[in-house]
Amino acid sequence: SDQPALLDVRDLHTRYGRVEALGGVSVSVPRGHIVSVIGANGAGKTTLMNAVMGLLPSQGTITYAGEDLRTVPLEGRVARGMSLVPERRDLFASMSVHDNLVLGAYSRRRQPWRSDLDGVYHRFPRLLERRSQLAGTLSGGEQQMLAIGRALMARPRLLLLDEPSLGLAPLIVRDILQIVRGLRDEGVTVLLVEQNARASLAISDGAYVLETGQVKLSGPAADLAQHPDLTASYLGS
Ligand code: ATP
Repeated sequence: SDQPALLDVRDLHTRYGRVEALGGVSVSVPRGHIVSVIGANGAGKTTLMNAVMGLLPSQGTITYAGEDLRTVPLEGRVARGMSLVPERRDLFASMSVHDNLVLGAYSRRRQPWRSDLDGVYHRFPRLLERRSQLAGTLSGGEQQMLAIGRALMARPRLLLLDEPSLGLAPLIVRDILQIVRGLRDEGVTVLLVEQNARASLAISDGAYVLETGQVKLSGPAADLAQHPDLTASYLGS
């Protein structure tokens, strides 16, 4: 696309002590696209998400909506419309579905959130049915829906999803990825981290393959889905 990207990551480096987790990663996420980052365990996918969100220090350039985020802390990134659904989901297990969702609007301060809550319940009828239930008693798929719903309460422009399919049965994975596609169709831009390469490429516009902290391959998702290196190592054929 000719439009400037909503998120542009250039030459990002991150280390844990002496371990270099990202060794110069560049990723571009055009507005209105789903871009997936795929790769094996330990490739650096979660590190990339956390660095983009400002949870980890990094070197390199992170540009969001044309602004250099170098001096913008986590809260500022949330206020600008970036919302992360972490791999562990980080729900409040002993609080109700409803209360978890309301907390998702915390960054909005006193702005009304009632209509956003209605919107989330409309999108996830299962959460409406279970709104008084404690989050910790939900199934894995329902917990992932709640984590996404909570992120939506912040009205994100850029949704960062870290392995939403982790631990879920294949049919539920399909439901969750269809929901992600629906959000993209409504104008949310998505950076999606997945180990489930085939399923994530199927809903993505662009994709990057990360290997030991470096971009190994990148391109349109449809092209990568046909790439021989990828079919051998990630797509199980
Ligand atoms: P996974 O799918 O297992 O989450 P990943 O692709 O997200 O893998 P990261 O979790 O980003 O990979 O890890 C990248 C590298 O950094 C790995 O070598 C990992 O062992 C290392 N690493 C991650 N977190 C830490 C940490 N807190 N301290 C030290 N090393 C870490």
